[in-house]
Amino acid sequence: MYTRRTFLANATALLAGSSVRPAVWSRLALSNSDPANSPMPLLLGVDYYPDQTPESLWEEDARLMADFGITNVRVGEFAWSLMEPSEGKFDFAWLRRAIEILHKHGIVVILGTPSAAPPPWLTAKYPEVLMVNDEGMPVSPGGRRFTCPTNKTYRRLSLQIATEMARTFVNTTGVIGWQIDNEFTLQRWGRCYCKFCRAGFQDWLRAKYGTLDTINSTWGTAFWSQVYTEFTQIPVPLPSNGDANPGLALDYDRYQSFANASFLEEQLVMLRKTCPRHFVTTNNVGAPLDTIDLHEMYRNLDFVSHDNYPGFAQIYSQGMPPEALSKLIALGHDSMRSVKDGKPFLIMEEQSGKAGQRFFAPQPHKGQLRLWTYQAVAHGAMGVNYFRWDSATFGAEEYWHGLLNHDRSKSIGFDEIRQTVKELKTLGREMLEASYPADVALIFDLDSDWALAVQPGQNKLTYRSQLISWYGSIADTHAGMDVIPAGADLSRYKAVFAPVQYVVSEKEASSIRRFVEGGGIFVTSFRLGVKDESSQIVRTPLPGLLRDVMGVTVKDYVPIYSEKIGVKFSSQLAGPDGECALWADLLQPSSASVLATYTEPYAGEPAITINSFGKGKAVYLGADLDPASLARVLGALVETAGIKSSFGLPRGVEVSVRKSGERQWIFVLNHAAASREIRLPGQFKDQLTGTMHAGSTTLDPYDVLVLQPA
Ligand SMILES: [Zn+2]
Repeated sequence: MYTRRTFLANATALLAGSSVRPAVWSRLALSNSDPANSPMPLLLGVDYYPDQTPESLWEEDARLMADFGITNVRVGEFAWSLMEPSEGKFDFAWLRRAIEILHKHGIVVILGTPSAAPPPWLTAKYPEVLMVNDEGMPVSPGGRRFTCPTNKTYRRLSLQIATEMARTFVNTTGVIGWQIDNEFTLQRWGRCYCKFCRAGFQDWLRAKYGTLDTINSTWGTAFWSQVYTEFTQIPVPLPSNGDANPGLALDYDRYQSFANASFLEEQLVMLRKTCPRHFVTTNNVGAPLDTIDLHEMYRNLDFVSHDNYPGFAQIYSQGMPPEALSKLIALGHDSMRSVKDGKPFLIMEEQSGKAGQRFFAPQPHKGQLRLWTYQAVAHGAMGVNYFRWDSATFGAEEYWHGLLNHDRSKSIGFDEIRQTVKELKTLGREMLEASYPADVALIFDLDSDWALAVQPGQNKLTYRSQLISWYGSIADTHAGMDVIPAGADLSRYKAVFAPVQYVVSEKEASSIRRFVEGGGIFVTSFRLGVKDESSQIVRTPLPGLLRDVMGVTVKDYVPIYSEKIGVKFSSQLAGPDGECALWADLLQPSSASVLATYTEPYAGEPAITINSFGKGKAVYLGADLDPASLARVLGALVETAGIKSSFGLPRGVEVSVRKSGERQWIFVLNHAAASREIRLPGQFKDQLTGTMHAGSTTLDPYDVLVLQPA
């Protein structure tokens, strides 16, 4: 029985960073110490839907998959209405038959719990489970992810179907692990504003703050007559003819992360108890689309699973060239790998053709599907499941092409993916479970993202666009890069980059201070430390807690709309004049040196500074630089940290490295639609073809080399 008391206990435990008992599986598998003896197969598979496929085809599908080289499938994550046709009446016989057929052909199974898509009987009987959107309107059933993460009825029924599944399949040969739910977040889909979330939010606040006095002072409720005298008076941030209190809005984002994570945790606790030999994970899509705290969500899961659809990025980026697209995709991989501190992740869904819901994504060019797989592996994937095996002839994803077309002929990607799977098996387990070394970190601070979304300061300024620009600029250097939360241990990195770190807690400031004192290079930008963690503006001159580290005071700050403000660089950053786009912090150095100044109307005012602090350096980019200048400046700063690729790489070619002991795999990926010549710093052997390369070599469009020093 899920009561208010258990919710509060759950809230308190999660806030304190509780830990669920690790799975037996986690001690058996993914152990780099003896990978040859791991009981897990390599996870090179597909997402499969026996629930959408005539049973007469299952045997043929399994045989074709085995011929293809597939080792595993994920099934079941949207099949609740078939598993529980009416409340309390369960039918898993069809799923058991499918699993038996698959296993007969040597294919193991990851089971998805189906809570992302409750059946019609459930929403008809319990309409209160429906999510309320950010305009206060209930979401209709018929799609997916339309339910409230707090609602106790939805939680009870979700846990019940997952428990019945777990009890049914705990000893079924061929079942190896679980995916809880499916894609919790995805922009607005990660937020509910219903009355249950409101009550849950109030409970969460009671657990976090204890008293209303603390909440009132933390949020500054004296503004607009918002002093709360009962917890039940506290609203959620819905339209109110005026913006929400920024402190309340930030805490609500945190609460929604908690609500989703604790929803998942209920199924996780049950799965650990019922199926201790199975792994447990969940799948999300990574930055820049995930909007809840994935560190909280994955804390007690075995590994990260990640869905990778470059085609969707192509649709929504409106024609982004392949070279830029490749960096957006890599940001997704690096952000997801960093969620479990660098542990190899699984691609639970990888694009296998024209992905599509309402629109088709662009047709992948010959070689791109293979290239995108290698890019995921190059950034830390230990396995890949292609979405999907066949193409549905009905439902909202009819346009989503799988490895088989609607008429069950082979898709254009079929042979290319089969070749890729074969190659990955040849490269082997040690490579797939190798680590990803990173000298550089990019801070992805959700508090700053959420707080800036409420009050951007300039109407085109978004945290995520800044994050993407900075990631792309640093990626041009080919430095190994982690994407980490603010407050993480920085000591392992040579350089740390933190764009628009608008919210800075004392803990985060201390971490940055220690890092620079110890010899690190910290590079940040405008709007640093404007707010504390309660989303109140600090009462000290900006950049607040980090003034001494940065060696500057922000004399004034300027949102830029139609003005043209240039940036002139000093000899240390020598280059053509830049342009300031959306924002200019005017800097007053105390101990810092000036690396760039503004032009009129702020001629001579410092725009970029560098400060020596302890053994390290702290660089402040007061100007929101144009893309070319940003890439040049961040590239120069990476080099200052002693990081420089020894490969000679033209535009569009990426290099990424994985390591296991003394062994390394150097992935050279040509994202360009044309051949590219690269220069090599020595002699290398291509692990895919056995070819020796030295001096220079040419990659065909979208081609891949996997090199080891000869
Ligand atoms: Zn809700």
